[in-house]
Amino acid sequence: MNVDLHCHSNFSDGCLEPADVVRRAHGNGVTLLSLTDHDALDGTEEAAREAAALGVRFVPGIEISVTYQNRTVHVVGLGIDPENPALKSSLERVHAGRAERAQRMADALARVGLGGMLSGAQRFARNQAMIGRAHFARHMVASGIMPDMPTVFKHYLAHGKPGFIPHRWAELEEVVDWIRGAGGIAVMAHPARYCKQLSKAAFDNLIDIFVAAGGEGVEVMAGTHSPEEVQRFATLARRYGLLASVGSDFHGESESLVDIGRCNPLPPDLEPVWHRLV
Ligand code: AMP
Ligand code: MN
Ligand code: MN
Ligand code: MN
Repeated sequence: MNVDLHCHSNFSDGCLEPADVVRRAHGNGVTLLSLTDHDALDGTEEAAREAAALGVRFVPGIEISVTYQNRTVHVVGLGIDPENPALKSSLERVHAGRAERAQRMADALARVGLGGMLSGAQRFARNQAMIGRAHFARHMVASGIMPDMPTVFKHYLAHGKPGFIPHRWAELEEVVDWIRGAGGIAVMAHPARYCKQLSKAAFDNLIDIFVAAGGEGVEVMAGTHSPEEVQRFATLARRYGLLASVGSDFHGESESLVDIGRCNPLPPDLEPVWHRLV
C-alpha cells in the first residue's frame, strides 16, 4: 500500500491542477491519497473525480494554519466533509485574513524597494482567496529578483525578514474543533519544524494542548523529516498513543524534496491513521 496524505494543488500554493496531482500520485503508485491544500477545499471535487477515474482511494483533506506562541503551526485535517458549513465559513474568515496579510506583505516589500509584488503574486495564484508566501516567492524568482525559492524565503519571507508579516491565524483548539466538527481527524503536520522554532517546553506544551483539544494524529513520515526525526516522532506517537501519518508535502516538481508517494513506510508497530479513514 502506497499512502500519501499531504500534498498541494494550485488551489493553494502547489504548482499542479488537482487532477494533475492525482495523476502524478497514480503514476508514482499511490493507492490512498489526500489533497491537503492550505486553508482551502476548492480542489477536492476535481481531485476526487480524477481519483475515482484512476482507481485511487481518495480522502478529502486540508492543511489549516494556526498561531501558537507567535509561531505558525500547521494542522492537517483528514476525512473531513468538504461541504461542512461551519468549516467553510471558518475558512472564509481565514481567507479574509490572508488577503489583508498579502496587502501588508506587498507594502512591506515596497518599503525595501520591491514594488508591484501583490499584482505579481496574484498572477501566480489560481485561487485569489489563497495568496501565500509561495506566490510572492515565485513572482520574485520569475522576475529575476532572486535565484530560487529558498533564497527568497531566506532574505525576504522567512520569520523576521523584511517581507514577513506576523499574522494571527486561528487558535489550535479552534482548528481541531473545526476539523472534528466536519467529521475529520486532526493530524499535527511536519512536527520537526516546530522543534526547530520552539523551546522543548513549548513544543511539549503544543503537543499536550493538541491532544487535549482532540488532536489524534501526527505526521511521523514527512517529506522534510530526516531518519532521526522519523524515529523521534515515532517515539512521540507511541508515547501519546497518536495515529501515525505519512505525507510528502509535495508542492511541485522543482520545489519539493520528496515526490508525491515517495515517502518511506512507517515503522510497523505504529497505528496508521488510515486505519481510521477507510
Ligand atoms: P503561508 O501559508 O502563506 O505563510 O506560506 C507557507 C508556505 O510557504 C509553506 O507551506 C511552503 O509552501 C512555503 N515555504 C515556507 N518556507 C519556505 C522555504 N524556506 N522555502 C520554500 N518554501 C517555503
Ligand atoms: Mn505550502
Ligand atoms: Mn505545512
Ligand atoms: Mn503542506
